[in-house]
Amino acid sequence: MIDMVDTESLLEVAYEEAQRGLAEGGIPIGAALFDSAGNLLGRGHNRRVQNDDPSVHAETDAFRDAGRRRDYRDTIMVTTLSPCWYCSGLVRQFGIGAVVVGEARTFHGGHEWLAENGVTITVVDDPRCVAMMEKFIAERPELWFEDIGVAE
Ligand SMILES: [Zn+2]
Repeated sequence: MIDMVDTESLLEVAYEEAQRGLAEGGIPIGAALFDSAGNLLGRGHNRRVQNDDPSVHAETDAFRDAGRRRDYRDTIMVTTLSPCWYCSGLVRQFGIGAVVVGEARTFHGGHEWLAENGVTITVVDDPRCVAMMEKFIAERPELWFEDIGVAE
């Protein structure tokens, strides 16, 4: 189903969300949930700083924004960064059929585990997403390591 949609245009929405989060003083990770036709269902970004809530990741924010749905098999989760274990668990829990990953260079999450478990994975390796995270990690390392749960 993922072949039917333009992954770059889907990723654009997630990238906008990441930039919005950065402008708010937060961690620049964005996500959006689409149906298989490419219709936007929900969008969001990491709000650890903004909401003082470490459980609001980009993917969970987009997922909650989409509201209730009976079946997620035909949905596509698009995220600027490889999904962490928590968000990879969300994809498995709700049976989301496909994940589009902006980049997996600055953080390698659970996307290969998802692929092994039947989720269609597309890694775009988008240079803008890579540059955005490299700049953020260089400027705010303490916030980054807090977000990925790496102790000092
Ligand atoms: Zn996550």
